[in-house]
Amino acid sequence: MSEKILIVEDEPALQETLAYNLQKQGYEVETAGDGYAALEAARARTPDLILLDLMLPGLDGFEVCKVLRKEMNVPVLMLTARDDEIDRVVGLEVGADDYLTKPFSMRELIARVKAQLRRTRVIREEMEKLKAVESAAAHEVLTFGDLSINLTRREVSRGGEVIPLKPQEYDLLVFFAEHRGQMLSREFILERVWGWEYIGDSRTVDVHVRWLRQKIETDPAHPQRIVTVRGGGYRFEG
Ligand code: CA
Repeated sequence: MSEKILIVEDEPALQETLAYNLQKQGYEVETAGDGYAALEAARARTPDLILLDLMLPGLDGFEVCKVLRKEMNVPVLMLTARDDEIDRVVGLEVGADDYLTKPFSMRELIARVKAQLRRTRVIREEMEKLKAVESAAAHEVLTFGDLSINLTRREVSRGGEVIPLKPQEYDLLVFFAEHRGQMLSREFILERVWGWEYIGDSRTVDVHVRWLRQKIETDPAHPQRIVTVRGGGYRFEG
């Protein structure tokens, strides 16, 4: 799909030259000859980039740019006739993304247009990637009966109610959940959840298992989820 460029220029000859050259580059082109028409076209056609002349009848380029900034996220390449306007053009006041001072060559213009569109494309792709990652992460929930572990939010809930867990309790529970049905020795749990420096202090595991059971078992005295394996360690049944 070709990208759409809105050309806002009141000089008919220049508008035509710009349109011709950009079309030749494969872009879809819209034109407007004054500020009001520019806003109308921008709203109706949602261009990928706007070439905006500064001196326009009706609303000038500054005004148009200010309105656009509030309404949409489109790159604006400003065309100015005077060097002394550049500060205002690129400043926060207006927020154009780039500018060209007249007279400019078509080659220069096209290079700037391409650069802006490339930038937009990269940003858009990154946003999409981020969105995909977020929505995948949002589904990272482990469920065991009425117990669910939201890995994204590091949140554990039971029957829809959030159970406050200390970070180590949470890590231990996730470790159990990821090794569901396996017999896990205290030493192995210690090493993987707490790190090698804790090796030898296997009581730490027992204490945390006790705390976890208080929070996630229906009857902590007769645990169904984290069961003790005789002579070994623990097994998570889910
Ligand atoms: Ca003009």
